[in-house]
Amino acid sequence: MQVGTGKIVVLGTGGTIAGTATEAGDNIGYTAGQVGIGQLLEAIPGLEQAAGGRIEAEQIAQIDSKDMEFAVWRQLSHRCAQLLADPDVRGVVVTHGTDTLEETAWFLDSVLAADRPVVLACAMRPASAMVPDGPQNLLDAVVLAATPGARGVMTVVAGTIHTARHVQKVHPYKVDAFSSGEAGPLGWVEEGTVRLASGWPAPSVPKPGALRHVADTFVWPRVEVLTSHVGADGRIVDLMVREGVDGIVVAATGNGTLHHALGSALERAHASGVEVRVATRCALGRVLPKPGDTLPHSEGLSPVKARITLLLELLARARQR
Ligand code: ASP
Repeated sequence: MQVGTGKIVVLGTGGTIAGTATEAGDNIGYTAGQVGIGQLLEAIPGLEQAAGGRIEAEQIAQIDSKDMEFAVWRQLSHRCAQLLADPDVRGVVVTHGTDTLEETAWFLDSVLAADRPVVLACAMRPASAMVPDGPQNLLDAVVLAATPGARGVMTVVAGTIHTARHVQKVHPYKVDAFSSGEAGPLGWVEEGTVRLASGWPAPSVPKPGALRHVADTFVWPRVEVLTSHVGADGRIVDLMVREGVDGIVVAATGNGTLHHALGSALERAHASGVEVRVATRCALGRVLPKPGDTLPHSEGLSPVKARITLLLELLARARQR
């Protein structure tokens, strides 16, 4: 087992990994965020050893991640930053629900200078399941966080390591529910050892002041995600503009194409000062910009991640005013 120096701190936020059902055979009719983080850790043999002997737990939140809120992100990012600034901390593990894991991962990657590992751990089966996947995922996350050289925001699910940039939940039920798409996984955790596909990702470089902007913000900008589809007449865009939306990310068809009526509505919104980003609704690939494009694209980010990047841009802009 590879072990670095310093302690591992596990921050609990809830999710299915901490979920319970009334019957052990029930894998879907459970309540997320029920078991305390201390109790989750106690149930995993060999965890302390995987952490190099020192592991601590803190409960940040206890929620189903479908209900993740900016207030929890503020608290979580603040605590992660404090821990990353502590030379006695080897790495941070965050237990989280699977539903919005990729959003929290991308948010943390965007605001933290993670020169050490921040690993999100999750599960597709509740803690009370006959065969829960949480204990192995959590043990693997601790192994990853304790591995010398590890850095950046990552997750490890069903033995596969994904970076914050590429990770996406791709299945609503399977235990191996995440993918890095065309980028492929960063690596694997196998019997307590990390095997990398190539190397560690370059350390993330957050925009200056990003963390402070998050800490200082109590009312976030309003950025919505919508989809181009058959019969997308764009009326929803006009409604959003009337409601005071600050930004819109559109999950476009194919290579950033939009139903003409939706496209016109988004052009009108853009001209009136609403920020618009064009992502693709395709599961793989990215929008390739072409001459004559009038709306900015999402620079390869999925719609939900493009929304986070736009939110942070708008926050920074509001703070500079
Ligand atoms: N709804 C749960 C959550 O995101 C699903 C999970 O964790 O698998 O918290």
